[in-house]
Amino acid sequence: MNDVTVHDKTFEVFITNEEIQKAIDKMAKIIAADVKDKQPLFLVVLNGAFVFAADLMRRFDFDCEVSFVKLSSYVGTKTTSVVREIIGLDEVLHNRTVIIVEDIIDTGITMASTIPKLMKLEAKEVKLATLLFKPNAFQKDFPIDYIGMEIPNDFIVGYGLDYDGFGRNLSDIYKLKE
Ligand code: 5GP
Ligand code: MG
Repeated sequence: MNDVTVHDKTFEVFITNEEIQKAIDKMAKIIAADVKDKQPLFLVVLNGAFVFAADLMRRFDFDCEVSFVKLSSYVGTKTTSVVREIIGLDEVLHNRTVIIVEDIIDTGITMASTIPKLMKLEAKEVKLATLLFKPNAFQKDFPIDYIGMEIPNDFIVGYGLDYDGFGRNLSDIYKLKE
């Protein structure tokens, strides 16, 4: 499969869309077994998780709601230490089962500050579903309930993830070519 150029950098295929779909199939079944009777609220973290969320939601054949929040803290190819507030949350979380839908957990800094904020809004439980997880970058210790795939510390784009705004529309996931 071909390399792609995003801005000034070259990326190579890392995870094909087919592999992604298999991982989501698995995850959706596990999530359904856990929460199918709880009318969960899927809280999708924009922008990166929008593609993953669309595929995940359509495999959840039970009552649920979906909402979107923003808390982007990523600039270029390095995580900034600035964690922003939750923007755009207008659902009442009181007594709800909330499933955060993330594209990727890297250092964990973003979610470590976000989960307590959601708990403060009196959610009954807050679960975390991430398509990708970088175990070697993870600096925190909160539990990650649902993980699609573990990956090494490469910078990746595609399937919703961007490099400075571009590359989100790629169907496969690409990694930076050294
Ligand atoms: P963390 O706070 O866990 O370090 O990173 C959280 C956010 O950084 C993710 O939700 C994602 O938006 C972004 N991020 C982390 N690693 C990557 C990566 O390899 N590529 C891209 N495009 N974004 C990433
Ligand atoms: Mg994200």
